Amino acid sequence: MSVRRGMRCRKCGAPAVINMPQHKLALCEEHYLEWVPARVGQTIKRFRMFRPEDKVLVAVSGGKDSLALWDILHRLGYAVEGLYIDLGIGGGYSAQSKEKVQAFAETRGGLPFRVVDVRETYGCSIPELAQRSRRGAKTCSLCGLVKRHIMNRIAYEGGFAAIATGHNLDDEAAVLMQNTLHWQAGYLGRQAPVLPSTHPHLARKVKPLCLMYEREMAAYSLVRGINYIYDECPYSVGAKTIFYKELLNQLEGRSPGAKLHFYLSFLKAKEEGTIRFMEEEEVQMQNCRRCGQPTTAGDLCAFCRLWERPEMAVCGPAEEFEA
Ligand code: SF4
Ligand code: ZN
Ligand code: ZN
Repeated sequence: MSVRRGMRCRKCGAPAVINMPQHKLALCEEHYLEWVPARVGQTIKRFRMFRPEDKVLVAVSGGKDSLALWDILHRLGYAVEGLYIDLGIGGGYSAQSKEKVQAFAETRGGLPFRVVDVRETYGCSIPELAQRSRRGAKTCSLCGLVKRHIMNRIAYEGGFAAIATGHNLDDEAAVLMQNTLHWQAGYLGRQAPVLPSTHPHLARKVKPLCLMYEREMAAYSLVRGINYIYDECPYSVGAKTIFYKELLNQLEGRSPGAKLHFYLSFLKAKEEGTIRFMEEEEVQMQNCRRCGQPTTAGDLCAFCRLWERPEMAVCGPAEEFEA
């Protein structure tokens, strides 16, 4: 990464590789590579995400944030395992992202990771599933449903204390802005760095990068030599959060630290009870008779109901996944 002329590391005076006006801090390569894991480690402790002895599953997509998160957790000494879900997305996206994950693990001495191939396991890739769905379900909502199910299943079967995802501050602030502009009280009530487990089959979800700017993660990946997939999933084109990220970047340009302040003030107001969201009604949960994950509607969960539809007859979970 290019050295900013005249910019010096605040810790040692060497040429800086990054200037972070949001923290009034410029750092050289060596000190930046120390600062990032330290900040992520503090975030893990601050929000009590998991303990040093816990087994953690990291959901990796092949993108910079999730690979950097895996790298950081490994450097911090956590017992961490990767999970790559092959969604079968065309245009080379899934194939290339899987290669990046494999190469990353190999170059770091064979870090452990699992791969779940959606087509091999369930008979249909995500795009095929969306195409078959006569009810017009959108690709991303089906993808979300399938990914959540797989993550919870792997975390439960593997005895993981938490699933860590690579959501960064820009992701969180964009979602917060979207939910605030629409006053989505339910979503605002649930948005947090930690989503506790509310059922033995539902894993705890944590976001250790939630206070890290996207730009900081890009710089970290570059300095650490992490080879990630630059392309976004083709189905993310036109996502509203991209627009909100641009707006927030404009705000940040005028007022460094605005994104962090926006997100942290929201968390503080929730924690202190300054803003409150309606408590969600206690809903009766029962265990899905096929997979064991909780469901509020009937005896099959939304994921298992998917495979019951006539148009999905050629797909469906293999026998060994049935409870
Ligand atoms: Fe899945 Fe949509 Fe994300 Fe692509 S953009 S990975 S289809 S949720
Ligand atoms: Zn330095
Ligand atoms: Zn189920």
